[in-house]
Amino acid sequence: MLKRKMLEEIFGSFDQLSYVTGDKLTTDCECGQKVNIEKVALGKMEAVGGVCGNCETLHIRRKKSMKNEHFAEVCKEIIHESMKIMDNKKSEYAVPVDCLINFKRRAKLLETNPGEVIVSDLTKHMDVLIQAAKTGNYRWCWEDEKGEGLKQRIADTINYLQLLAGYFEETNESRKEHQDHNSLF
Ligand SMILES: [Zn+2]
Repeated sequence: MLKRKMLEEIFGSFDQLSYVTGDKLTTDCECGQKVNIEKVALGKMEAVGGVCGNCETLHIRRKKSMKNEHFAEVCKEIIHESMKIMDNKKSEYAVPVDCLINFKRRAKLLETNPGEVIVSDLTKHMDVLIQAAKTGNYRWCWEDEKGEGLKQRIADTINYLQLLAGYFEETNESRKEHQDHNSLF
């Protein structure tokens, strides 16, 4: 990966960095501006990218593909962190409580079921992920001075899916009990 300092030498200073994939010759900046993607040489180094004339976001083409080992590392980091977040939430309570208690309370207020509340929360995270994938405009970190990064968002999404699994498990159990009860008569 090219260092920011080097990129600044090539492209001048920029506010934000965004990655371009594929072989397109232009890219649509999040601000709406079209940016030309060109080959730029600096000594032996060669970079492909362009700076948005409107918002100064630097768009750079990334070609390197990810190796299996690297991918495994990323997965490990994300899963490890999402489990930590879940554990921290659990230990906020002094006594073991129903993991779905918050969703049940909100479901009552909204006159729906907890599963739908969880899915509704999930769509908020999905919306952010869709925008990140679509625009390539994201901060690949847990947290920085601007706030929550995309890693955090993915870990939260995983946890909401886990909670949804918990909801379906519980619902299915009581459904089974209900069926067993009915079959006695
Ligand atoms: Zn722009």
